[in-house]
Amino acid sequence: MKAAVLHASQDIRYEECPTPEIRPGCVKINVRACGICGSDIPRVLGDAAHFFPIVLGHEFSGEVVEIADDVKNIAVGDHVVCAPLIPCFDCPDCALGNFSLCKHYTFIGSRIFGGMAEYVVIPARNAVKFSAERSFEEAALLEPATVGCHGVLCNDFKGGGTTAVVGAGTIGLFTAQWAALLGASKVVFFDVDDDRLQLAKDITGFDGVNTRNIAPADAAKQLTGRGFDYVFGASGACPSYINCFELAANHAHVCFVGTPTGPVTFTAAQWEMINRRELRVTGSWMSFSAPFPGHEWTMCAQYLDDGRLKCDRRMIHKLFPLSQCKEAFDCYKNPASVKGRIMLVNP
Ligand SMILES: [Zn+2]
Ligand SMILES: [Zn+2]
Repeated sequence: MKAAVLHASQDIRYEECPTPEIRPGCVKINVRACGICGSDIPRVLGDAAHFFPIVLGHEFSGEVVEIADDVKNIAVGDHVVCAPLIPCFDCPDCALGNFSLCKHYTFIGSRIFGGMAEYVVIPARNAVKFSAERSFEEAALLEPATVGCHGVLCNDFKGGGTTAVVGAGTIGLFTAQWAALLGASKVVFFDVDDDRLQLAKDITGFDGVNTRNIAPADAAKQLTGRGFDYVFGASGACPSYINCFELAANHAHVCFVGTPTGPVTFTAAQWEMINRRELRVTGSWMSFSAPFPGHEWTMCAQYLDDGRLKCDRRMIHKLFPLSQCKEAFDCYKNPASVKGRIMLVNP
């Protein structure tokens, strides 16, 4: 088969590679679409790869072409998306169902070979079915959708509250959609990029505020009278962390879904907002819960199938054939030019 094989930093090649063999408990997938995640970029352009050579790709969908004899829940011909974490299922965190927190895990597409290939073999329990009426490209957005869903669940979200989403990128769009699907009375995006805010509005229908034009605290007051009940940090930029506190109402729930892109610093007064407002601040990591892979996956697949969750084509910046994997990663040498996911597709 052909695959995008990473041989060294900046050295990704589309080349012949052994087709993986089926193993007990596993399914073989003909990959049709594979998104490039933010976490893949330093693996290819920087020095974050765990080893070489490696086939990356954890946000992928495809068609099942072979199953092991002992596999019951998946059939040849099923359209599936990959839930990429392989936890140990044995440690105290796994016993509690907190699979994202397992320390003895492996991960499809970063620690073992992933979906930037024609074929990949994964455990059947990591394959999540979706309706054949949905496209492979839409379904390849399901992993980031589950990350947004997990953030909303981690933030102890209850319907009826007002919700601010700081950062209108892919994860922010899904976080906002899940807050709305679970009953938010109002959802507002905060970002520094008008194009992103406009696209977020076009796809989800929710208004956005550019925090370059108005102080977040003033915007929160105008929009809600008292600040937002739920705040989600879906950006990694330092000022966005401060904005999350500025937007929060007294006793608000604040959840950081995004991971910082550099040092984050607060003044004493900024940090003290946690005290003075008695905020509940939490984080979320990946998108797994019990029973594995979790509600996030069942909910996202179901809501994708019935059309309530929008994995909109406009969230995809560009599709590249897998043979142009190098060109696809080169786009990130100018990250500001990339608006949304880049996907590698097999014809
Ligand atoms: Zn990812
Ligand atoms: Zn474990």
